[in-house]
Amino acid sequence: MRELEEEIRRCTKCPLHRHRAKAVPGEGDPNAKVFFIGEAPGRNEDLEGRPFVGAAGKLLNRLLELAGLSRSAVFITNVVKCRPPGNRDPRPEEIEACAPYLDRQLAAVRPDIVVTLGRHSTAYLLGRAGMQASSIMKTRGRIYRIEVGGLEVEVLPTLHPAAALYNPRLLPLLESDFSLLRSLLRGRAEGLERFF
Ligand code: URA
Ligand code: SF4
Repeated sequence: MRELEEEIRRCTKCPLHRHRAKAVPGEGDPNAKVFFIGEAPGRNEDLEGRPFVGAAGKLLNRLLELAGLSRSAVFITNVVKCRPPGNRDPRPEEIEACAPYLDRQLAAVRPDIVVTLGRHSTAYLLGRAGMQASSIMKTRGRIYRIEVGGLEVEVLPTLHPAAALYNPRLLPLLESDFSLLRSLLRGRAEGLERFF
């Protein structure tokens, strides 16, 4: 994991490296049961080299609490590790260049549950299992059992915390999904699973 982190910090595989202050490999428990995937670093993350340290990160911390999790008990990273200029969406070729790092992180941590935050990470991960993700509003709040790189995981797609900062009416959906995560962790989610 340390080596992988160093590799990411030095990476120049896509044009995003030219704009970054610091790459953001991700952080947390290398043996975490729950693995969170965001989209891309924002301004604060780029300056600090750490994921989810800005406003969206504060909300994520509150949601983690709701699920009965502490930040140090989980692993948190993004689909792309360098900040897209002006926080634009990452481009498909940037995701393609960067995603092998995410795959290697998943293979190293071997989590039971992956929570995808927003449409980019959801589309990427479900896409790895050959699933075509429809809109995040339809995909979120359910559990998908998939296999990625020989690893069986349960995926819980939810909205990106930043979406709820932009539109507070979305906050109850995020809260509901993190409550589902809490139930899932307590082994009480029987009957809620959807198999593919
Ligand atoms: N938004 C993300 O998707 N990732 C971060 O690390 C911070 C904000
Ligand atoms: Fe490398 Fe990913 Fe950064 Fe592109 S975004 S330079 S692939 S670490």
